[in-house]
Amino acid sequence: WTSETIAVVTGANRGIGFEIVHQLALHGLTVILTSRDTGVGEESAKVLQEGGLNVVFHQLDIVDPSSIKEFANWIKENYGGLDILINNAGVNFNAGSDNSVEFAEKVITTNYIGTKNMIKAIVPLMRPSDAGSRIVNVSSKLGRLNGRRNKISNVELRKQLEDDESLTEELIDQTMDKFLQEVKDGTWTEGGWPQAFTDYSLSKLAVNAYTRLMASIFSERPEGQKIYINCYCPGWVKTAMTGWAGHIEPEDGADTAVWLALLPDQSISGKFFNERREIHF
Ligand code: NDP
Repeated sequence: WTSETIAVVTGANRGIGFEIVHQLALHGLTVILTSRDTGVGEESAKVLQEGGLNVVFHQLDIVDPSSIKEFANWIKENYGGLDILINNAGVNFNAGSDNSVEFAEKVITTNYIGTKNMIKAIVPLMRPSDAGSRIVNVSSKLGRLNGRRNKISNVELRKQLEDDESLTEELIDQTMDKFLQEVKDGTWTEGGWPQAFTDYSLSKLAVNAYTRLMASIFSERPEGQKIYINCYCPGWVKTAMTGWAGHIEPEDGADTAVWLALLPDQSISGKFFNERREIHF
């Protein structure tokens, strides 16, 4: 990895995303720190630039298609493409053990649709290389298909989402749409959805399923144009999202993302990790 290697991190003005930028830059890469708010993002980038790191700021709001388009054009014009994408941006409106499904649309649109739209916009810009390009999605154990307690109760739907043969983008989208419709109708509590942090858990379940789907699609790409995509749970991290109530610091929460982005082993794709170890979906 050299300063010629271009990595992009979404939602990187604070928290885990900021730390991912920091650690990738310490490895000598050129890292694009993106943030939906220009002023805040520039300030964050400045902290790392003043430390002598190769960090460049650009605005990016992952729920705004025109922002994504403008960003993609800027990357193409300035760098000709990129090598690593870390989809870190996310929201959660659940406090304590609440279910704030009134924000469900925002949560699904940001965490799942925003991540998906970033991947769609960025994949054509991934530069060919022997090492393969990398995508890392920051997810959560709350989004497990087969979590011990927090899961979709419909066994048939779970099977469809779990089986690589029946997993499609339409199935993931339909599952999210069904949940959002039930939220609008006020019937979601009888829908058999995950009990804890329902909207957030489902958004991360969708991110995980989409990671597996894309890994399968990417595996068809010819040698030299491979893209490896994985997701991971950072643990419970002291950031704004948890009201700084987590167990671990953002530095530790960022570690597995950086490890996955720089992993020499190219056989790993479509997997879910926590603390550098593979875990089940
Ligand atoms: P923070 O709230 O500190 O950071 C979230 C970041 O995402 C902020 O920079 C925020 O920007 C950005 N963001 C939100 N919406 C958008 C958008 N539409 N476009 C661009 N950026 C956006 O939380 P964390 O650092 O904890 O979260 C990072 C990731 O880690 C998230 O995906 C989260 O779900 C995941 N995660 C976190 C856990 C934890 O314990 N903290 C546990 C499991 C997963 P802004 O500052 O403008 O709001």
